[in-house]
Amino acid sequence: MNTSRSPLPVRVVALSGGVGGARLAAGLQQILAAGHLTVVVNTGDDFEHWGLTICPDLDTVLYNLAGIHNPETGWGRADESFQVLEEMERYGGEVWFRLGDRDLALHLRRTEWLRQGLSLTEITDRLRHMWAVPSRILPMCNEPVRTLVHTDEGDLPFQHYFVRRRCEPTLVALSFVGGEQARPTPDVLEALAEADLIVFGPSNPYVSLDPILSVPGMRAAIQRAPGPKVGVSPIVGGRALKGPAAKMMRELGELISPLTVVDHFGDLLDGFVIDQEDAALADAVILPTLVTDTIMVDGQAQARLAQEVVEFGLSLPVHPQR
Ligand code: GDP
Ligand code: CA
Repeated sequence: MNTSRSPLPVRVVALSGGVGGARLAAGLQQILAAGHLTVVVNTGDDFEHWGLTICPDLDTVLYNLAGIHNPETGWGRADESFQVLEEMERYGGEVWFRLGDRDLALHLRRTEWLRQGLSLTEITDRLRHMWAVPSRILPMCNEPVRTLVHTDEGDLPFQHYFVRRRCEPTLVALSFVGGEQARPTPDVLEALAEADLIVFGPSNPYVSLDPILSVPGMRAAIQRAPGPKVGVSPIVGGRALKGPAAKMMRELGELISPLTVVDHFGDLLDGFVIDQEDAALADAVILPTLVTDTIMVDGQAQARLAQEVVEFGLSLPVHPQR
Protein backbone atom coordinates (compact mmCIF):
# COMPACT_ATOMS: atom_id res chain seq x y z
CA MET A 1 0.00 0.00 0.00
CA ASN A 2 1.18 3.51 -0.77
CA THR A 3 2.00 5.13 2.57
CA SER A 4 3.49 8.27 1.02
CA ARG A 5 0.07 9.67 0.12
CA SER A 6 -0.97 13.04 1.53
CA PRO A 7 -1.74 13.23 5.25
CA LEU A 8 -5.37 12.51 6.13
CA PRO A 9 -7.25 15.42 7.74
CA VAL A 10 -9.14 12.99 9.99
CA ARG A 11 -9.29 13.38 13.77
CA VAL A 12 -8.47 10.09 15.44
CA VAL A 13 -8.42 9.19 19.13
CA ALA A 14 -6.42 6.05 19.93
CA LEU A 15 -6.73 4.29 23.29
CA SER A 16 -3.38 2.81 24.24
CA GLY A 17 -1.26 0.96 26.75
CA GLY A 18 2.46 0.72 26.07
CA VAL A 19 4.04 -1.32 23.31
CA GLY A 20 1.20 -2.51 21.04
CA GLY A 21 -0.82 0.67 21.36
CA ALA A 22 2.25 2.87 20.89
CA ARG A 23 3.21 1.05 17.69
CA LEU A 24 -0.18 1.68 16.13
CA ALA A 25 -0.17 5.27 17.40
CA ALA A 26 3.18 5.82 15.69
CA GLY A 27 1.62 4.54 12.45
CA LEU A 28 -1.39 6.80 12.85
CA GLN A 29 0.87 9.80 13.45
CA GLN A 30 2.65 9.05 10.18
CA ILE A 31 -0.49 9.04 8.06
CA LEU A 32 -2.61 11.73 9.71
CA ALA A 33 -2.28 15.46 9.26
CA ALA A 34 -0.22 17.03 12.07
CA GLY A 35 -2.23 17.54 15.23
CA HIS A 36 -5.02 15.18 14.19
CA LEU A 37 -4.04 12.30 16.49
CA THR A 38 -4.82 12.18 20.20
CA VAL A 39 -3.61 9.20 22.20
CA VAL A 40 -5.47 8.47 25.45
CA VAL A 41 -3.09 6.45 27.58
CA ASN A 42 -3.43 3.99 30.46
CA THR A 43 -1.96 5.24 33.73
CA GLY A 44 -2.86 2.17 35.81
CA ASP A 45 0.76 1.02 35.38
CA ASP A 46 2.08 4.15 37.11
CA PHE A 47 3.97 3.73 40.35
CA GLU A 48 6.34 5.37 42.79
CA HIS A 49 9.96 4.19 42.74
CA TRP A 50 13.14 5.81 44.12
CA GLY A 51 10.81 8.60 45.30
CA LEU A 52 9.77 9.33 41.71
CA THR A 53 6.47 9.04 39.87
CA ILE A 54 6.92 6.75 36.89
CA CYS A 55 4.35 6.45 34.09
CA PRO A 56 5.52 3.57 31.88
CA ASP A 57 2.78 3.63 29.27
CA LEU A 58 2.79 7.42 28.86
CA ASP A 59 6.55 7.30 28.41
CA THR A 60 6.42 4.42 25.93
CA VAL A 61 3.90 6.37 23.84
CA LEU A 62 5.96 9.57 24.10
CA TYR A 63 9.19 7.82 23.15
CA ASN A 64 7.55 6.02 20.21
CA LEU A 65 5.88 9.16 18.86
CA ALA A 66 9.15 11.07 19.25
CA GLY A 67 11.08 8.27 17.52
CA ILE A 68 13.50 7.94 20.46
CA HIS A 69 12.29 4.58 21.76
CA ASN A 70 14.28 1.37 21.99
CA PRO A 71 12.73 -0.86 19.31
CA GLU A 72 14.37 -4.01 20.72
CA THR A 73 12.98 -3.88 24.25
CA GLY A 74 9.75 -2.04 23.46
CA TRP A 75 10.31 0.14 26.55
CA GLY A 76 12.81 2.85 27.39
CA ARG A 77 15.06 5.07 25.29
CA ALA A 78 17.30 4.18 22.39
CA ASP A 79 20.98 4.89 23.01
CA GLU A 80 20.53 4.44 26.76
CA SER A 81 23.04 3.86 29.57
CA PHE A 82 22.49 2.55 33.10
CA GLN A 83 25.17 4.20 35.23
CA VAL A 84 22.77 5.48 37.88
CA LEU A 85 21.23 2.02 38.18
CA GLU A 86 24.70 0.51 38.75
CA GLU A 87 25.45 3.02 41.49
CA MET A 88 22.04 2.41 43.01
CA GLU A 89 22.92 -1.26 43.37
CA ARG A 90 26.03 -0.28 45.33
CA TYR A 91 23.82 1.72 47.72
CA GLY A 92 21.40 -1.13 48.19
CA GLY A 93 18.60 0.52 46.20
CA GLU A 94 15.99 -1.49 44.34
CA VAL A 95 17.22 -2.36 40.86
CA TRP A 96 14.58 -4.77 39.56
CA PHE A 97 12.97 -1.97 37.57
CA ARG A 98 15.57 -0.92 35.03
CA LEU A 99 15.67 2.86 34.86
CA GLY A 100 18.09 4.23 32.27
CA ASP A 101 20.02 7.46 32.70
CA ARG A 102 18.23 9.39 29.95
CA ASP A 103 14.89 7.99 31.04
CA LEU A 104 15.60 9.03 34.61
CA ALA A 105 15.83 12.72 33.71
CA LEU A 106 12.21 12.60 32.58
CA HIS A 107 11.05 10.98 35.83
CA LEU A 108 12.94 13.57 37.88
CA ARG A 109 11.42 16.44 35.95
CA ARG A 110 7.89 15.03 36.00
CA THR A 111 8.07 14.41 39.74
CA GLU A 112 9.32 17.96 40.29
CA TRP A 113 6.43 19.36 38.26
CA LEU A 114 3.89 17.19 40.08
CA ARG A 115 5.23 18.54 43.39
CA GLN A 116 4.79 22.07 42.03
CA GLY A 117 1.12 21.26 41.45
CA LEU A 118 0.98 20.72 37.70
CA SER A 119 -1.47 18.07 36.48
CA LEU A 120 -0.28 14.94 34.70
CA THR A 121 -2.09 16.24 31.59
CA GLU A 122 -0.12 19.53 31.68
CA ILE A 123 3.15 17.74 32.31
CA THR A 124 2.64 15.24 29.50
CA ASP A 125 1.81 18.08 27.12
CA ARG A 126 5.01 19.93 28.06
CA LEU A 127 7.04 16.80 27.49
CA ARG A 128 5.60 16.05 24.08
CA HIS A 129 6.18 19.66 22.97
CA MET A 130 9.79 19.38 24.12
CA TRP A 131 10.18 16.49 21.68
CA ALA A 132 8.18 18.28 18.94
CA VAL A 133 5.62 15.47 18.90
CA PRO A 134 2.73 16.72 16.74
CA SER A 135 0.13 14.46 18.41
CA ARG A 136 -1.57 15.06 21.73
CA ILE A 137 -0.76 12.51 24.43
CA LEU A 138 -3.35 12.49 27.21
CA PRO A 139 -3.32 10.49 30.43
CA MET A 140 -6.73 8.83 30.88
CA CYS A 141 -7.22 10.97 34.03
CA ASN A 142 -5.22 13.21 36.34
CA GLU A 143 -6.00 11.30 39.54
CA PRO A 144 -3.69 8.43 40.48
CA VAL A 145 -5.21 5.05 39.58
CA ARG A 146 -3.12 1.99 40.39
CA THR A 147 -3.69 -1.46 38.91
CA LEU A 148 -3.59 -4.12 41.63
CA VAL A 149 -3.08 -7.71 40.50
CA HIS A 150 -4.82 -10.33 42.63
CA THR A 151 -2.85 -13.57 42.24
CA ASP A 152 -2.60 -17.02 43.79
CA GLU A 153 0.36 -15.61 45.75
CA GLY A 154 -1.52 -12.59 47.05
CA ASP A 155 -2.04 -9.03 45.82
CA LEU A 156 0.74 -7.37 43.86
CA PRO A 157 1.06 -3.77 42.63
CA PHE A 158 1.19 -3.94 38.84
CA GLN A 159 4.93 -3.34 38.30
CA HIS A 160 5.78 -5.85 41.03
CA TYR A 161 3.71 -8.45 39.21
CA PHE A 162 4.84 -7.44 35.72
CA VAL A 163 8.54 -6.67 36.11
CA ARG A 164 9.72 -7.96 39.47
CA ARG A 165 7.79 -11.25 39.32
CA ARG A 166 7.80 -11.49 35.48
CA CYS A 167 4.07 -12.25 35.50
CA GLU A 168 4.75 -15.67 37.08
CA PRO A 169 1.98 -15.75 39.72
CA THR A 170 -1.38 -16.94 38.43
CA LEU A 171 -3.84 -14.13 37.81
CA VAL A 172 -7.10 -14.32 39.75
CA ALA A 173 -8.56 -10.84 39.22
CA LEU A 174 -7.62 -7.19 38.73
CA SER A 175 -8.69 -4.02 40.46
CA PHE A 176 -7.97 -0.38 39.73
CA VAL A 177 -7.31 1.30 43.06
CA GLY A 178 -8.37 4.95 43.26
CA GLY A 179 -10.45 4.59 40.14
CA GLU A 180 -13.71 5.56 41.85
CA GLN A 181 -12.44 9.10 42.43
CA ALA A 182 -11.05 9.51 38.94
CA ARG A 183 -12.79 11.32 36.08
CA PRO A 184 -11.93 11.58 32.38
CA THR A 185 -10.25 14.95 31.91
CA PRO A 186 -11.95 17.72 29.90
CA ASP A 187 -9.25 17.19 27.25
CA VAL A 188 -10.12 13.50 26.94
CA LEU A 189 -13.86 14.21 26.78
CA GLU A 190 -13.37 16.89 24.13
CA ALA A 191 -11.10 14.69 22.02
CA LEU A 192 -13.60 11.81 22.11
CA ALA A 193 -16.52 14.08 21.22
CA GLU A 194 -14.65 15.61 18.27
CA ALA A 195 -13.11 12.41 16.91
CA ASP A 196 -13.97 11.22 13.40
CA LEU A 197 -12.77 7.80 14.53
CA ILE A 198 -11.89 6.10 17.82
CA VAL A 199 -9.38 3.25 17.72
CA PHE A 200 -8.85 0.72 20.49
CA GLY A 201 -5.17 -0.12 19.97
CA PRO A 202 -3.84 -3.70 20.03
CA SER A 203 -3.16 -3.34 23.75
CA ASN A 204 -3.62 -5.78 26.59
CA PRO A 205 -7.41 -5.79 27.23
CA TYR A 206 -7.11 -6.43 30.96
CA VAL A 207 -4.25 -4.21 32.12
CA SER A 208 -4.05 -1.55 29.40
CA LEU A 209 -7.55 -0.87 28.06
CA ASP A 210 -9.69 -1.93 31.05
CA PRO A 211 -8.08 0.64 33.38
CA ILE A 212 -8.95 3.37 30.86
CA LEU A 213 -12.54 2.11 30.60
CA SER A 214 -12.77 1.81 34.39
CA VAL A 215 -12.56 5.57 34.87
CA PRO A 216 -16.14 6.52 35.81
CA GLY A 217 -17.75 8.26 32.83
CA MET A 218 -15.25 6.98 30.26
CA ARG A 219 -17.41 4.21 28.80
CA ALA A 220 -20.37 6.57 28.52
CA ALA A 221 -18.19 9.22 26.85
CA ILE A 222 -17.00 6.67 24.30
CA GLN A 223 -20.54 5.40 23.74
CA ARG A 224 -21.95 8.86 23.06
CA ALA A 225 -19.03 9.94 20.88
CA PRO A 226 -20.38 10.24 17.32
CA GLY A 227 -17.40 8.70 15.51
CA PRO A 228 -17.14 5.00 14.66
CA LYS A 229 -15.12 2.83 17.01
CA VAL A 230 -12.79 0.13 15.80
CA GLY A 231 -10.64 -2.33 17.74
CA VAL A 232 -7.40 -4.05 16.67
CA SER A 233 -6.60 -7.48 18.07
CA PRO A 234 -3.49 -7.87 20.25
CA ILE A 235 -3.89 -11.64 19.89
CA VAL A 236 -2.47 -13.11 16.69
CA GLY A 237 -2.61 -16.82 15.89
CA GLY A 238 -3.40 -17.83 19.47
CA ARG A 239 -0.57 -15.85 21.06
CA ALA A 240 0.28 -12.37 22.31
CA LEU A 241 3.14 -10.75 20.43
CA LYS A 242 4.51 -9.38 23.68
CA GLY A 243 3.58 -9.48 27.34
CA PRO A 244 1.11 -11.49 29.38
CA ALA A 245 -2.19 -10.99 27.49
CA ALA A 246 -2.41 -14.64 26.40
CA LYS A 247 -1.33 -15.99 29.79
CA MET A 248 -3.92 -13.78 31.46
CA MET A 249 -6.68 -15.01 29.14
CA ARG A 250 -5.84 -18.62 29.96
CA GLU A 251 -5.76 -17.96 33.70
CA LEU A 252 -9.09 -16.15 33.54
CA GLY A 253 -10.57 -19.22 31.85
CA GLU A 254 -10.93 -17.55 28.46
CA LEU A 255 -9.98 -18.79 25.01
CA ILE A 256 -6.72 -17.23 23.73
CA SER A 257 -8.36 -15.70 20.69
CA PRO A 258 -9.30 -12.41 19.06
CA LEU A 259 -12.89 -13.52 19.73
CA THR A 260 -12.25 -13.12 23.45
CA VAL A 261 -11.23 -9.50 22.81
CA VAL A 262 -14.39 -8.94 20.78
CA ASP A 263 -16.47 -10.43 23.61
CA HIS A 264 -14.73 -8.13 26.04
CA PHE A 265 -15.21 -4.80 24.18
CA GLY A 266 -17.76 -5.69 21.53
CA ASP A 267 -20.52 -3.54 23.04
CA LEU A 268 -18.35 -0.45 22.53
CA LEU A 269 -17.15 -1.25 19.00
CA ASP A 270 -18.51 -0.86 15.47
CA GLY A 271 -15.80 -2.94 13.80
CA PHE A 272 -12.80 -5.13 14.55
CA VAL A 273 -9.46 -5.87 12.91
CA ILE A 274 -7.91 -9.34 13.10
CA ASP A 275 -4.70 -10.74 11.70
CA GLN A 276 -4.56 -12.70 8.45
CA GLU A 277 -3.36 -15.68 10.51
CA ASP A 278 -6.81 -15.69 12.11
CA ALA A 279 -8.75 -15.28 8.86
CA ALA A 280 -10.74 -18.44 9.63
CA LEU A 281 -12.27 -16.66 12.64
CA ALA A 282 -13.64 -13.71 10.66
CA ASP A 283 -17.12 -15.21 10.27
CA ALA A 284 -17.34 -15.77 14.03
CA VAL A 285 -16.71 -12.09 14.83
CA ILE A 286 -20.07 -10.47 15.50
CA LEU A 287 -18.89 -7.12 14.10
CA PRO A 288 -17.81 -5.98 10.65
CA THR A 289 -14.29 -7.34 10.37
CA LEU A 290 -11.13 -6.39 8.52
CA VAL A 291 -8.61 -9.20 8.04
CA THR A 292 -5.07 -8.00 7.36
CA ASP A 293 -1.42 -8.26 8.41
CA THR A 294 -1.44 -6.68 11.87
CA ILE A 295 2.17 -7.40 12.83
CA MET A 296 3.97 -4.06 12.97
CA VAL A 297 7.58 -5.04 12.34
CA ASP A 298 8.74 -1.53 11.39
CA GLY A 299 7.57 2.01 10.74
CA GLN A 300 6.30 1.13 7.27
CA ALA A 301 4.20 -1.72 8.65
CA GLN A 302 2.84 0.62 11.34
CA ALA A 303 1.79 3.19 8.74
CA ARG A 304 0.24 0.56 6.45
CA LEU A 305 -1.84 -0.95 9.26
CA ALA A 306 -2.84 2.53 10.47
CA GLN A 307 -3.99 3.48 6.95
CA GLU A 308 -6.08 0.31 6.66
CA VAL A 309 -7.59 0.76 10.11
CA VAL A 310 -8.58 4.36 9.35
CA GLU A 311 -10.08 3.51 5.94
CA PHE A 312 -11.96 0.56 7.43
CA GLY A 313 -13.13 2.56 10.45
CA LEU A 314 -14.44 5.45 8.36
CA SER A 315 -16.37 3.02 6.14
CA LEU A 316 -18.30 1.57 9.09
CA PRO A 317 -21.90 2.34 9.87
CA VAL A 318 -22.03 3.48 13.48
CA HIS A 319 -23.76 1.21 15.95
CA PRO A 320 -27.56 1.50 15.58
CA GLN A 321 -28.06 1.96 19.36
CA ARG A 322 -26.14 5.21 19.27
P1 GDP B 1 2.21 -2.73 27.37
O1 GDP B 1 1.60 -1.65 28.20
O2 GDP B 1 3.64 -2.51 27.06
O3 GDP B 1 1.85 -4.10 27.83
O4 GDP B 1 1.56 -2.54 25.94
P2 GDP B 1 0.11 -2.74 25.35
O5 GDP B 1 -0.86 -3.26 26.33
O6 GDP B 1 -0.24 -1.49 24.59
O7 GDP B 1 0.47 -3.80 24.27
C1 GDP B 1 0.68 -5.16 24.60
C2 GDP B 1 0.01 -5.97 23.54
O8 GDP B 1 0.45 -5.49 22.27
C3 GDP B 1 0.34 -7.43 23.58
O9 GDP B 1 -0.82 -8.14 23.90
C4 GDP B 1 0.83 -7.74 22.17
O10 GDP B 1 0.28 -8.93 21.64
C5 GDP B 1 0.37 -6.55 21.37
N1 GDP B 1 1.23 -6.20 20.26
C6 GDP B 1 2.52 -5.82 20.32
N2 GDP B 1 2.98 -5.58 19.08
C7 GDP B 1 1.96 -5.82 18.21
C8 GDP B 1 1.82 -5.77 16.79
O11 GDP B 1 2.75 -5.46 16.04
N3 GDP B 1 0.59 -6.11 16.28
C9 GDP B 1 -0.46 -6.47 17.07
N4 GDP B 1 -1.63 -6.79 16.50
N5 GDP B 1 -0.36 -6.53 18.41
C10 GDP B 1 0.84 -6.22 18.97
CA1 CA C 1 1.59 -1.07 30.27
